[in-house]
Amino acid sequence: MNKLRSQFQADAISAPGAGDGLDIAGHLRLAHALESVDLGIMMIGAAGRVEFHNRRALQLLQIPASEAAGLTVGGIVARTGGTEVFARDGGQSVTVSPAPGCHIDIEAHPLPGGGAIIMVGDVSAARLHEKAVLQAESEYRTLFDNTIYGIYRDTLDGRPIRVNPALAAMNGYASEADHIEAVRHSPGNWYVEQGRGEEFQRLLKRDGRVKDFVSEIVRHRTGEHLWITENAWYVHGADGNPVFIEGTIQDATERIANLSVIERQVNRDSLTGAASRFHFLNRLAEETRPERPGCVLYAVDVDAFKDVNDILGHGAGDAVLKTMVQRLQALAGPKSLVARIGGDEFAILAAGSHAHMEADILARRIVEAMRETITVSGHNINVGASVGVAVFPLHANDASELLGNADIALYRVKSAGRNGFRIFDYELKSRLQSRKELESDLRRAVEAGELDLFYQPIVDANSASVRAYEALMRWHHPRRGFLPPGQFIGVAEDAGLMTELGNWAIARACRQAVLLPGEIAVAVNVSPNQFRSADIIRAVRASFAETGLAPARLILEVTETVLLSSESIATAAFAQLHALGVKFALDDFGTGFSSLSYLQRFPFSKVKIDQSFVAGIATNPANLAIIRAVIGLGRDLAIDVVAEGVETAEQAEILRREGCGLIQGYFYGRPRPFAEIAADHAVANLTSFRQNGVPIKQTVQNSR
Ligand code: C2E
Ligand code: MG
Ligand code: MG
Repeated sequence: MNKLRSQFQADAISAPGAGDGLDIAGHLRLAHALESVDLGIMMIGAAGRVEFHNRRALQLLQIPASEAAGLTVGGIVARTGGTEVFARDGGQSVTVSPAPGCHIDIEAHPLPGGGAIIMVGDVSAARLHEKAVLQAESEYRTLFDNTIYGIYRDTLDGRPIRVNPALAAMNGYASEADHIEAVRHSPGNWYVEQGRGEEFQRLLKRDGRVKDFVSEIVRHRTGEHLWITENAWYVHGADGNPVFIEGTIQDATERIANLSVIERQVNRDSLTGAASRFHFLNRLAEETRPERPGCVLYAVDVDAFKDVNDILGHGAGDAVLKTMVQRLQALAGPKSLVARIGGDEFAILAAGSHAHMEADILARRIVEAMRETITVSGHNINVGASVGVAVFPLHANDASELLGNADIALYRVKSAGRNGFRIFDYELKSRLQSRKELESDLRRAVEAGELDLFYQPIVDANSASVRAYEALMRWHHPRRGFLPPGQFIGVAEDAGLMTELGNWAIARACRQAVLLPGEIAVAVNVSPNQFRSADIIRAVRASFAETGLAPARLILEVTETVLLSSESIATAAFAQLHALGVKFALDDFGTGFSSLSYLQRFPFSKVKIDQSFVAGIATNPANLAIIRAVIGLGRDLAIDVVAEGVETAEQAEILRREGCGLIQGYFYGRPRPFAEIAADHAVANLTSFRQNGVPIKQTVQNSR
């Protein structure tokens, strides 16, 4: 600035050269033109004094016309009494301030041959604007420096360019420079939770900004933890592409501390430290968006956990769960989320398009790791786990479908005896689906009159005369057609419908049995569950009361499972039904536990040799030996022996020769509708029966 001023004061400005090529008229026109511009113009002669000026120049400099002539540049600057003198670019100008708020630029251009031309311009407005900007800048600076919010500008890959003192302080640094320096040298991991940083980047990329992102972070210098709320956005370049990330950070530790109990419960399982169900479902929803690369869901169920709790107490149970989570976290790795989603149910969410390729490896490792012994206060505990796996988007279009399908796979493992894994496939699902459909159809089947009993004769081995009929359930399904019990009994058992179905069969069989000749009995199959319920006794009593059937004409066929499952209940049911006069047959003998002692302890009047033994009777000596033994035992205990599944004359002949008293099988007759067997016995007045055998009288009653 001093240099500038001295230049103006210097006498170096010399007089203008002669001969500019203009005549008088030309000079007048030029003078006129110079008067009509908004710019002040002065000409300094070689002697350094004003030789020419227009009016605008004097007006701007506030110099009376009378004082203008002969002024030097130094004199002008001094006169205008500029309190401030500014250097301009190019170095040939000053700004003076002849009055408050008034800023005048004086620009000198030396002329060849000495002297200079001076241009005087009003820059008050521009100076005002400049001042306002500076003022605003310093105000923002104050905000930036003093706000309690952390503010930063980062490169796109997250290296700090600017941070304010609050942010530096949050990270434990005294200044912006310290902060930037320290973070640049060891970036460290800012987020406590695995995958949180990736999540932040993902949201930023997706939306161009991140709002109210709450996380627990590590204070860079000290390693302490604190909670923050972040807001961030991209700063875009002229080409529209992001060039920086800017953001604000608010210390939320206090807020979280106030909320901590709730907040932590919401996001984290307090016992094991695994992610909470809530948190897991949020992540799952994110990972299963259509644009995501994919993920694998492992549904993990701890086997036998209830036993640990019941036998060793909750302390041991808790320890087992904690160990399980540690093992799962170690296996799943830092990129996966391990969550506790129920008492002893866990889930692992492995993200990334290649995760599915290792699905079976991880699933197998989980099963193996969970099987390892856990020692809790001196006890060695062995649990184990069942794992169901489903892959997105291979196995599902959204989160709930993925959850459902992992559960289907898990369900499959459990029903196959637990302690293993299974990866979902669509066949599994269609099987389960058709089972579900069948179940709901079955609930209506009894009411809708779709169930029926077919009757298969049990004949005397010697005379071939019918001694009894076995009632076998059939379902006339409206869409699937005619179904044998193998296709729906299991479903009915699982759905808890077997008692209802079984008791319907007893009632129906009794009503039809009374219509048959008095020496013929009717055998009805009873499922284990049905036998465990007291309902069966009521059903039998009610049927006897309604039909007047002689109790000895009803045979209940049970399998060994009935006796195995819960002997005392079975004993009580046997005793009461036996007291009513009902007969019992032990069905499918030889297929199960085959404890001969049952035949002694329970009041069986018949034992039915399973058809699998009969099938090989002519070819397999072992089968024949077993059949011989059962026949001998029956003779000793005075129990009738029935051979099931007799299909050929040869089989029938062998059995008759061996002394088997009763034979059932296709050779003597297939199961047929009641109307047909009734016709065989020339039951009078068949017209009084509906085709499916229900007497009209009862139909009328039922329809009310
Ligand atoms: P089960 O009690 O052992 O019945 C005998 C099964 O063998 C019947 O099959 C019958 O049709 C079949 N069978 C009879 N003779 C022959 C033969 O010569 N060759 C062959 N290959 N098979 C023969 P179905 O009717 O399919 O019944 C299957 C099973 O369903 C029954 O086995 C019984 O355990 C169960 N079941 C049938 N009806 C009922 C019911 O009302 N209640 C309960 N709880 N179970 C029932
Ligand atoms: Mg049977
Ligand atoms: Mg059988």
